[in-house]
Amino acid sequence: MNNQTLLTKSEIFTVYNQMRAAARREGNTKQIERLNKALGILLSKEYYAGERLAYIPTKDSCGCKDWEFRFSSKRAYTGGCKHMLAEVMMQSALALRAAHEVTVWLTPRESFPAEVIA
Ligand SMILES: [Zn+2]
Repeated sequence: MNNQTLLTKSEIFTVYNQMRAAARREGNTKQIERLNKALGILLSKEYYAGERLAYIPTKDSCGCKDWEFRFSSKRAYTGGCKHMLAEVMMQSALALRAAHEVTVWLTPRESFPAEVIA
């Protein structure tokens, strides 16, 4: 699946903001660092042809060193690496879009403002 061409910056930022807000509520600064990096790689074309192909990240695992050493005390964080968080962000953005499309489809036309119908 080539998510890069499917997701807009707006969709990526929407999910990033939600996940960062949740991490802030938990005081999870290690995750916030990785969310910031995940946002960066999602917006970079090189990522999809480079690290993403090399590490084959999913929401549950990744081939990078950060994930390999997730239990090291120096890391001080056992959560997902930036690649895994990026995968979660992509899936969440696609799920949000799908939910939005269903909502639009199910909403009676009468409830839209006149200018939208015209
Ligand atoms: Zn990784």
